[in-house]
Amino acid sequence: MNISTIINEFAEERINYFNAVTPPIVQTSNFAFKSVEDLRNAFEKEYDVWLYSRGNNPTVDILRKKLAALDGAEDCLVFNSGAAAIFASVLANVKSGDHIVSVNGVYTWARKMFEQILPRFGVTHTYIDGTEIINFKKAIQKNTTIFYLESPNSWTFDLQDLKAVATLAKANNILTICDNSYCTALYQKPIELGIDLVLQSATKYIGGHSDVVAGVLTGSKSMIEKIFYSEYMTIGSGIQPFNAWLLIRGLRTLTARMEKITTTTFQVVDYLLKHPKVEEVVFPFNASFAQYELAKQQMKTVGGLLTFIIKVNNANQIEEFCNNLKHILMAVSWGGYESLIIPKYATIAKNEFDSNNLWHKSLRLYVGLEEPDYIINDLEQAFSRL
Ligand SMILES: *Cc1c(COP(=O)(O)O)cnc(C)c1O
Repeated sequence: MNISTIINEFAEERINYFNAVTPPIVQTSNFAFKSVEDLRNAFEKEYDVWLYSRGNNPTVDILRKKLAALDGAEDCLVFNSGAAAIFASVLANVKSGDHIVSVNGVYTWARKMFEQILPRFGVTHTYIDGTEIINFKKAIQKNTTIFYLESPNSWTFDLQDLKAVATLAKANNILTICDNSYCTALYQKPIELGIDLVLQSATKYIGGHSDVVAGVLTGSKSMIEKIFYSEYMTIGSGIQPFNAWLLIRGLRTLTARMEKITTTTFQVVDYLLKHPKVEEVVFPFNASFAQYELAKQQMKTVGGLLTFIIKVNNANQIEEFCNNLKHILMAVSWGGYESLIIPKYATIAKNEFDSNNLWHKSLRLYVGLEEPDYIINDLEQAFSRL
């Protein structure tokens, strides 16, 4: 399906709502039935009907269909956070005694799940360097049921060869789950490469305005239906209709926003690469990036996340640089209209700072929708005061 069809038309049946151009927020918790027979049928197949908005809701349904189509997937569930999508996708596919292979550097709360929650239920994990396929082969145990991937991750941007990992997983009867938040469906289609379940934090590019927290999970109809009847309904972490409506609105401008962000990001990267106070710029589409060839092969292009390592002698200078920024905000998350920065230094204990460790001097920058000069001038005045 054409991407404009998906974004502008698909799953919208205006005849059902007064031919309104924009779909309504169906702000209801429950749906009424005319007969006991109808109600009985609804109980039997809640996945297919409107019964209760913790399950299905018409506004959420429009969003689900569009997001599934964007990913080239059969079906989709939308959660109240990306973290909830991560948790449901994994929990639905493990039992006590199982083992998960996860790549290094995945999202913080995915790591919490692997390290603190799942061990309580007898599920173990191994972290590997996912940049080499051989490491997956070596980590497989008899009880391995999931490969958990994030390509690229959101700080070092390590990639996995998704096609190769999916092939290896299929041969060993292992399920693959990939966090695709960095790229979105616009820049990378893991399902086409053979990945089973794809998740994204919709808080980032899909919402796009830093005003909604949400998560997406796409996959086969049988897998999504299974998760609907188990984790989705029992944890009750489905998205609310108003937030679903905000995401539908976000989708309308997704391609335009991504295009602008990508163009500006390449300009900011060029600026940083030439800057005397920058040691290194880590960005998947830099020719110097270790996995540049793979990045070009499996990603269409890149969004606004990059990391740069600043030339400083001590941590105070990192603080100074960040504190001196006037427009670029210091805040978590990314994917919105506003440029953001986080110094690695803020994530480690002060006394652990090691000026010989390049990563300790790294800053993660997200390039938003502002004009390139606005962002570059802000960086420049902060550099100049170092
Ligand atoms: C933000 C993020 C998540 C979690 O999403 P939330 O919507 O914050 O729960 C998961 N993965 C990646 C890569 C993220 O950046």
